[in-house]
Amino acid sequence: MNKATVVKSTGSWYILKDVITQNIYEARIRGKFKKEKIRNTNPLAVGDLVDYELENNDIAWVTKIYARKNYLIRKSVNLSKETHILASNVDLACILFTLKKPVTSLGFLNRFLITCEAYQIPVLIIFNKIDLLSVQEMLSLNEIDLLYKNIGYDTLEISAEKKINIDILKEKIKNKTVVFSGHSGSGKTSTINALQPQLNLKTSVISEYDDKGKHTTTFAQMYDWDFGGQIIDIPGIKEFELVDIDREELQDYFPEIFKYREFCKFNNCLHINEPGCAVVEAVKDNLISSKRYLHYLKLMEELNIK
Ligand code: GDP
Ligand code: ZN
Repeated sequence: MNKATVVKSTGSWYILKDVITQNIYEARIRGKFKKEKIRNTNPLAVGDLVDYELENNDIAWVTKIYARKNYLIRKSVNLSKETHILASNVDLACILFTLKKPVTSLGFLNRFLITCEAYQIPVLIIFNKIDLLSVQEMLSLNEIDLLYKNIGYDTLEISAEKKINIDILKEKIKNKTVVFSGHSGSGKTSTINALQPQLNLKTSVISEYDDKGKHTTTFAQMYDWDFGGQIIDIPGIKEFELVDIDREELQDYFPEIFKYREFCKFNNCLHINEPGCAVVEAVKDNLISSKRYLHYLKLMEELNIK
């Protein structure tokens, strides 16, 4: 039996890498896996572990898709009902945050963190471009850094340009399957190049036409690090949509809210204006950041409208 990892996906054909021989094959999937399409998502994603059979020593047919440990998903750009699994079996999601050039909003960061909590993907918050910061700005950054550290997230301040803390970053991602995300211009390419100059990521954009002749682009590809592990290159994500999250569920993805909720008077408390809410108390006592709590309320409002 042949086992392989999906290292590239265009939506209609795939590239597999055999886990033992490391041979590369172009692959297809049979109709039975296409039922996922009915559920409005792609059946096979980069990072998936599969069994395959070779036809004429050439085309690999996927015969089994192993259950995913986790996956990153987003809504399709064109059709809001569709979702797209960007990457699966991810060990670490690295999000690049820049205080300036460009400004990354805390809202963007929070949405990314919520998505990763929901899909059980550990996160590393990378504060890039620290070489650009004045003393005052550095203090602001440290405040943000501490806020997220206190919640329990791993963080690292780097400069891809000046190669500050790149070795520490290497240690943190070594032997893992990682994804990098962040606003365009936050330094994703520079950071990857600082980690491994020879990798030379060609952010391959594959243009395709879907069944209705509508133009779509998908681009996800897995590359090996020379120090161990892989990177899955996914499209630059501007804003994470909350996929399949209920209002009652949102609190589960704010670790600091989750921590206090058991002390609320009502066990169905949504921490908005209920009496005896331990979360609101914790915000008043500065045990929960009011910035984060306000973002929770804002998202609850958004989920209400949906
Ligand atoms: P990407 O769009 O996220 O891939 O961002 P790039 O890696 O292309 O970087 C965008 C711009 O920011 C480029 O002009 C880089 O030279 C610059 N840049 C990236 N990292 C740093 C950094 O740590 N410090 C400074 N000063 N500039 C950086
Ligand atoms: Zn409450």
